[in-house]
Amino acid sequence: MPRKRMKGSAAVRAIAYNDRDRGSRPRREPSMPSTPLPRAVLKAGREKSLRRRHPWVFSGAIERVDGEAAAGATIEVVDAAGRFLARAAYSPASQIRARVWTFASDETVDAAFLERRIERALDGRRRLGLLEPGTACRLVFGESDGLAGLVVDRYADWLVCQLLSAGMERWRGEIAAILERRLRPRGVYERSEGAARRKEGLPSRRGVLAGAEPPEWIEIDSGGVRHLIDVRGGQKTGGYLDQQGNRVRVARHAGGARVLDAFAYGGGFALAALAAGARHATLLDSSKEALGLAERAAALNGVAGRCELREANVFEELRRLKEAGERFDVVVLDPPKFVHSAEQVQAGSRGYKDVNLLALALVEPGGILATFSCSGHVDAALFQKIVAGAALDAGRDVQIVERLAQPPDHPVALAFPEAEYLKGLILRVP
Ligand code: SAH
Repeated sequence: MPRKRMKGSAAVRAIAYNDRDRGSRPRREPSMPSTPLPRAVLKAGREKSLRRRHPWVFSGAIERVDGEAAAGATIEVVDAAGRFLARAAYSPASQIRARVWTFASDETVDAAFLERRIERALDGRRRLGLLEPGTACRLVFGESDGLAGLVVDRYADWLVCQLLSAGMERWRGEIAAILERRLRPRGVYERSEGAARRKEGLPSRRGVLAGAEPPEWIEIDSGGVRHLIDVRGGQKTGGYLDQQGNRVRVARHAGGARVLDAFAYGGGFALAALAAGARHATLLDSSKEALGLAERAAALNGVAGRCELREANVFEELRRLKEAGERFDVVVLDPPKFVHSAEQVQAGSRGYKDVNLLALALVEPGGILATFSCSGHVDAALFQKIVAGAALDAGRDVQIVERLAQPPDHPVALAFPEAEYLKGLILRVP
């Protein structure tokens, strides 16, 4: 494995070691807000999920809203009898009409509140040793960190934010200021885009939120491999941090292997495998930009000579490879989300089955298939069933040798099981 590279800028050191307030406990503000907050009164019986501390209030659960509530405003949510349930951010355009900030009746929602929540999230990552200089991790993962609608990713000494709800939009300036003060990054970039923003009735926003404009590529160290992250033009926030640990786990099976990395994006799995001694890797992706990143990163890691990049539709290319009689020792399947709603589960399951069936046909006897799903609506049990169906049709006796999931910087709040989305299987294919 290449040696871990450490970059030693002051900003990075600040990110890693700024633990001024370590150990501080959440404080409760003693005073109540001076003007009463608008109140969402729930229909009788519709308070149950909030009592279990689930943070979403759907529009259908609300009987009426008393007072003027603007988008992103803090409101009080009460049950049909008027009893306090939570303070929440109001999203008038969304089916998820309010997202809970706090269940504590004596806690005020203000900049100090946001700072406590953000610090709690940072402290979790710090204790896991995830703030090492030059590395990357997800610092804030929305509802799981008590910050519904906020994602913050750190790539070396740069931060990327997604503000995905009206409530977060309302506090954008404060959030940027807190992140700057706490972490002293070189810059905070915003990638507030996609379906979540549309559902909130919010426009897309992309640009510098604070500090400097990020460079074209930010170099990070991921498990001893150098990656290039394009936070301005790349997919999502620039990288897929949820697969960092899984790439290392898969790479353990890659010594001497011919690897096929399907849905490669920047080639995370291929690069990890090559660093672990794979003989050769073929990368497939439909995005030219993604393959451009992978190409640069391969050169940076000195493995360009052992890589082949192909711009292709994975479904078509797997068929073509099969017909051409190509076989691989390790095949990685890391497709985008196929299932976006409960209604799509059946169609999406078909997609997962098809692609796994095609991939299984390409695995050398004794080889490995590492297969993933990032669709939250397809749980681990269903995913295993789908893959079992594919193995049956492929006529191969497949074993699960490892089960993979999302990493500790993408935690799942027990009260919010929707946060669990990534699952994977490392399969041995005799
Ligand atoms: N494995 C990557 C992340 C993959 S994200 C990593 O470890 O970082 C999914 C990728 O699939 C995206 O890069 C997207 O461009 C690509 N993609 C989506 N549909 C595709 C298709 N039908 N054929 C090929 N690539 C596809």
